[in-house]
Amino acid sequence: MRRVLILGSTGSIGTQAIDIATSHPDRFRVVGLSAGSNVEMLAGQARELGLDESATALGAEGASELIRRLEPDVVLNAITGSVGLGPTLEALDSGAVLALANKESLIVGGELVTSRAAEGQIVPVDSEHSALAQALMAGRPAEVARLIVTASGGPFRGKSAEELHAVSPRDALAHPTWKMGRVITTNSATLVNKGLEVIEAHLLFGIGFDQIEVSVHPQSIVHSLVEFIDGSTIAQCSPPDMRLPIALALEWPRRVPGAVAGLDWSAAHTWSFEPLDDEVFPAVSMAKQAGAQGATFPAVFNAANEQAVDAFHEGHLSFPGITEVIAQVLGEHQPEEMTLEGVYQAEGWARTRADEVIAARRS
Ligand code: NDP
Repeated sequence: MRRVLILGSTGSIGTQAIDIATSHPDRFRVVGLSAGSNVEMLAGQARELGLDESATALGAEGASELIRRLEPDVVLNAITGSVGLGPTLEALDSGAVLALANKESLIVGGELVTSRAAEGQIVPVDSEHSALAQALMAGRPAEVARLIVTASGGPFRGKSAEELHAVSPRDALAHPTWKMGRVITTNSATLVNKGLEVIEAHLLFGIGFDQIEVSVHPQSIVHSLVEFIDGSTIAQCSPPDMRLPIALALEWPRRVPGAVAGLDWSAAHTWSFEPLDDEVFPAVSMAKQAGAQGATFPAVFNAANEQAVDAFHEGHLSFPGITEVIAQVLGEHQPEEMTLEGVYQAEGWARTRADEVIAARRS
């Protein structure tokens, strides 16, 4: 029986995690919940799970305090944004398994996070990294040739750079295969999410950026692939349903029976793969460069993006403007020292600078 603390319980990942845990009371007991500000929904969830108010908290500091107080076996960090860094570090220091949906904290914290994690302590929730972790079991680390991270291509796959100028926030939120929160859905449309995932794969599995590729696979059935040195490629396939990687992360390395229904092999399937158009969607190559520069560059990439995504949804920035703002802010960045303070400083600078760049573009 694993005692699970769910951070970001009111979000898309958090609510699915509660579903999984309550469907498998023999395996999981939810011992605590946290949200950002949605007090009503949080209280309702706590009531349904029979939790006392003291097992709930608001904000990132509240989440960290819950980790210290409840001492769970597994912390699911499903908070959105780099504000999840504090709880990620707290979970690692507590010795709990960290089921990590909040990729931002790993990307922003970089080696601050990886150096604090024991071997196998971070288990990815992202479907691509869950797929990579599963496929990596097929060989030894020295036998890995390449990681191939798949991307659905988002709602604007196949559009030209000109066409992207006219897309609205509503268009960007219409993801073809996944139902997710606002930030990650927008990031899937710009491919910034795939860029973040490439950095995440590098940090989780210790593979160089030149050995990580992205392939566009619109059906979102093959969640990622690992190529080994003998030319063999292992893929992980399942319906596009986050309950599978969430369940596997909570119970890792064991599988949860019936987490999702398997694929229907009595029906005909066509799966396609195509290269990413780097010119129209520059986010992945920008992320690879920021990841290779290391230090506070990934934190700046992420922070500038978070500001730009907000501005886009407020109608203050065009869709292509999101990656243009990130590129400009990255280009001006003078890296800080890789300490927690340095990271926060770089993030603060990137947010202010991104806001200035956005404001200047409007005038
Ligand atoms: P949502 O926006 O749906 O949910 C975010 C959760 O975080 C909510 O519970 C929210 O609380 C909470 N939260 C927001 N701000 C804060 C804060 N300042 N302090 C503490 N808690 C906060 O996001 P998703 O569930 O879609 O995504 C969560 C994470 O998982 C992200 O990092 C995302 O990239 C990752 N992920 C998501 C996938 C998906 O399918 N959704 C797939 C793979 C990864 P409140 O409701 O009160 O605002």
